[in-house]
Amino acid sequence: MIASLFSLKGKKAFVSGSSRGIGRAVAMLLGEAGAEVWFHASRPSPALDATLAEAEKRAIACHSVAADLSGMEGVDQIVRSVRECDILILNASVQRYLTLDEFDGEEFAREFNTNVRASFALVQAFLPGMRARRFGRIVSIGSVNQRKPSPRLGIYAATKAALANLILNCARSSAEFGVTANNVAPGVIATDRNAETLADPAAARKILEQIPVRRFGTPEDCAGIVLLLCSEAGSYITGADIPVAGGMQL
Ligand code: NAP
Repeated sequence: MIASLFSLKGKKAFVSGSSRGIGRAVAMLLGEAGAEVWFHASRPSPALDATLAEAEKRAIACHSVAADLSGMEGVDQIVRSVRECDILILNASVQRYLTLDEFDGEEFAREFNTNVRASFALVQAFLPGMRARRFGRIVSIGSVNQRKPSPRLGIYAATKAALANLILNCARSSAEFGVTANNVAPGVIATDRNAETLADPAAARKILEQIPVRRFGTPEDCAGIVLLLCSEAGSYITGADIPVAGGMQL
């Protein structure tokens, strides 16, 4: 019973930004649940190769695709490579620590193009197939910044709020076709992205004070909820926005 509720056998999953960090942990778990997985990075890299080798070691049916999502060519490349997708995880994003005063148009465009426009273009590309097959799962990876924008991540926070809003809207319009769409909002998860900040004891202490469970999350902390949302067990959950943040959203 438990195995069939969480099995993803026969499903094809694409996880953007899965060479490292949260995306990697999510893609591995979906693969271990039986999905055929496309691992993705912005460019060919040793990290992507090592992740694919690890997935093969775990007997996951897997492929890799390298494509920069700051431009629409990257989206086209992914669609050509994956072709059919039952489970779409929108995880890749870019961010720069800048105050609102420091942001310029170029950085604004880079963050919105990568985090929102490319993600939404992937939804538009794969959603018709999901609807036709009467099964689909879309999960966007947001951030606690969606609701509580950090002063130095204002534009990034806005991209996460925009993406969550689009995905939750998609939930309403796709539910009758067997497609669910949800957003998962991590708090502080220890990955390459924040390794430098978290390695500074004073900064780490200050951040920990804002996290009720008093520890940073791990990429694996984010994977279980995504598996639930993608599985049969999660088929009645749509339009949800779920923090995985050790209470930091409070
Ligand atoms: P990460 O370790 O920095 O990994 C980022 C992934 O995205 C990598 O696979 C990277 O590929 C890919 N990527 C980056 N820029 C890209 C581009 N222009 N085109 C295509 N792919 C690109 O990230 P993470 O910390 O695991 O975060 C994953 C997601 O969770 C992000 O959406 C992030 O905003 C969100 N999040 C993270 C935290 C946190 O504390 N870590 C908190 C809240 C939300 P390469 O290997 O080629 O660079």
